Amino acid sequence: MRHNYYSENWYQATDKFYKNASRVGDLKWCVANGHEFDIPYVFIGDGPHKIVINSGIHGIEGYFGSAAQNMFMDKFARNLTPDFREKYTIVLIHVINGWGMQNRMREVIDTKRGGLVDLNRNFGVDFSRPDSLPQNPQYDLAHDLLLSAPDAVNKKNAIKSYRAAHLRDGAWDAISFGQYKHPYGLFYGGAAPMMENKMTMHIYDNIMRDDARSLTSVGLHTGLGRFDRKNGCVTSELLVSHPANHKNVQYFNKMLPSIPIISDERAKSGPVLLGDLVDCLEVRYTTPEIPVYTADFEIGTGEYPIMSPIYKRMDMGDARYDLLHNGKINPQTWANLTESWYPSDTRWRDAALERAFILFSEMISNLKQR
Ligand SMILES: [Zn+2]
Repeated sequence: MRHNYYSENWYQATDKFYKNASRVGDLKWCVANGHEFDIPYVFIGDGPHKIVINSGIHGIEGYFGSAAQNMFMDKFARNLTPDFREKYTIVLIHVINGWGMQNRMREVIDTKRGGLVDLNRNFGVDFSRPDSLPQNPQYDLAHDLLLSAPDAVNKKNAIKSYRAAHLRDGAWDAISFGQYKHPYGLFYGGAAPMMENKMTMHIYDNIMRDDARSLTSVGLHTGLGRFDRKNGCVTSELLVSHPANHKNVQYFNKMLPSIPIISDERAKSGPVLLGDLVDCLEVRYTTPEIPVYTADFEIGTGEYPIMSPIYKRMDMGDARYDLLHNGKINPQTWANLTESWYPSDTRWRDAALERAFILFSEMISNLKQR
């Protein structure tokens, strides 16, 4: 699939999105005072069942989500029948983290308080009392190692050993759960709601007001570790933050028969990630009458099931070391990060869009049958 759906920077991506969006639906903008990166979004149809596809919550993941949304408008939006549009409203929210896109960072920088905030650990957290913020003491065990000086061999081996030692006690997993203690640590959730977070909630509130009878929300993400240009391939899966027997897992299983649906058994007694958007949406909008189904569609970068998460955490730690000690990220670290999350390989990018095509076609055909 060779199309011009991908963009090189946020300005081009936003331009492309709003031009396409104004042709296929009702284009809206979320803008905030003093915030450079407006968020355009589009309503296609005006039915009570809301289907939302958001992109770009993590800037390092580049323009796959934006490209997929452009493809949706080009290949799917035009063919939706009046019946479909009466029953459903499809909403595409374009690039939540514009600053991160432009600066090739997963996070946003908190210019007031300092720190690199992962927006997907910043939702629905009560920041009003700092002493009652969620705790993640297991993250603390790994913090110094992750932020130690870059060293391709020794640091990698140290992280590998740490993983082996802490696979069973949960401390390895806990690195990515989110934490509110180390502003330059990994998966830091911030000290206050970020502007991008407030804008996103404003958009969802706008979608869910008045007539909403259900919400299905899927975030588009990429990157599960370094990409091997020679042997690398694209992977795709839909992550649902509930155990396998939960109705939301069954909902997506039925909707998307050929996409692997990854449930989370750890979520039996509640959300695993702290401050993530999907759990926040479920808490905010679910009522006895309004079911809310949320998931993240993850395009992966290859076939290193063990080493990818190790490299990923090491690269994130190296970038922070560089920023804290040298003021900027070393080019090698930068290349590792960007190739891990958003490979420049054109075959990967094309194949990623093919996976998004499958996601959208199965979604639409399932919704048509309801
Ligand atoms: Zn992501």
